[in-house]
Amino acid sequence: MFCKIVSGDVPATIVRETETTVAFRDINPQAPTHVLVIPRLHHPDAASLAAAAPEVAADILREAGNVAADEKLVETGYRVVFNTGSGAGQTVFHAHAHILGGRGMQWPPG
Ligand code: 5GP
Repeated sequence: MFCKIVSGDVPATIVRETETTVAFRDINPQAPTHVLVIPRLHHPDAASLAAAAPEVAADILREAGNVAADEKLVETGYRVVFNTGSGAGQTVFHAHAHILGGRGMQWPPG
């Protein structure tokens, strides 16, 4: 599914793009700001991406920070989440970081 967003076959509200990453708004937002940052490369989860292409994993984290800055979340705080495995809530098996902000956050997360 996310490969089709990278290729443009599935529409998305893209907020940032780099040579290696695409950032777009989540279709079912869980916070006032809910953006996903994905690699253009297909890897099923963040750990697989980091093992195979650590420089792209670093790009994801850099872009998470850039999204937070664009969305004016740096002062109030934001959360970066990599759900990994269905037991942790992962539903799309193409690595992605959730950037969530604009409301109070609970810890520990549910
Ligand atoms: P996961 O549950 O795997 O951690 O996160 C997958 C996220 O992708 C969910 O928050 C879901 O709302 C979002 N999502 C699934 N399909 C699409 C889609 O086609 N477009 C967009 N923009 N978001 C999607």
